[in-house]
Amino acid sequence: MQKTKKLKKLVVANWKMNPKTNAEALTILKETLKGANTAVDVTVCPPFLFLSLLAKIKLKKGITLGLQNVSEFEEGAHTGEVSVLMGKNFPISYVIVGHSERRAIKESDEVVAKKVLAVKKAKLTPIVCIGEHERDQHGLYLDAIKKQLLASLALLPKAAIKEIVVAYEPIWAIGKSASEAMDGHTLHQTSLLIRKILIEQFGSGAKETRILYGGAVAPENAALLVKEGEVDGLLVGHQSLKPKAFGEIIMGVSHA
Ligand code: PEP
Repeated sequence: MQKTKKLKKLVVANWKMNPKTNAEALTILKETLKGANTAVDVTVCPPFLFLSLLAKIKLKKGITLGLQNVSEFEEGAHTGEVSVLMGKNFPISYVIVGHSERRAIKESDEVVAKKVLAVKKAKLTPIVCIGEHERDQHGLYLDAIKKQLLASLALLPKAAIKEIVVAYEPIWAIGKSASEAMDGHTLHQTSLLIRKILIEQFGSGAKETRILYGGAVAPENAALLVKEGEVDGLLVGHQSLKPKAFGEIIMGVSHA
């Protein structure tokens, strides 16, 4: 299936609830910058509390900061939540929405859909995470992927489909070692399915939607996953906290 416009590949660093100190966060970002290159877009998503500190560092072209989550609300009585408008006080471009670790604590598709809309309204790019818990023999996971994808994008205006990123992250691969990641061929089949669903629902604008893969990405599988899986980039968890490994992943993606 041909895409109409070729955007740069995107590599997302999801630091999750790491590291523990300001000093470590600064070091990881500074070291990460050394491994970045302009062939690939990179966005680093640290915990909220590090943003003011990290925003002071001059980033290279093509590198941005992002958020790991936001509230679906703009402001108000929502203790412990952070709104996308607060995030906009910082030089951020992307917001991860509906990560499986948020869905695991009961974030529903309906809430994810509201968050996607909130991020779009704030003129930022949502990275919408989807993925099955397991692959059953009867292919029921295919329906689950479709249902989750469409429900998560239920409030997105059709024309905005090319301005979002979909991160396909099979939950069974997250946090595992490289050998347990999805293989390139299976990833290709799944990324084709996701694009087909998007085009059927949103029209040809979905040919430009970037589809990423996440789950046990490491230096040894990054290039292969992108090349064989024909995805537009990667979402990287634990390996993004290791600047050397993350730099190798970026390199792999830029050569894929
Ligand atoms: C993730 O949590 O989004 C992720 C991809 O994690 P990891 O790279 O550690 O599998």
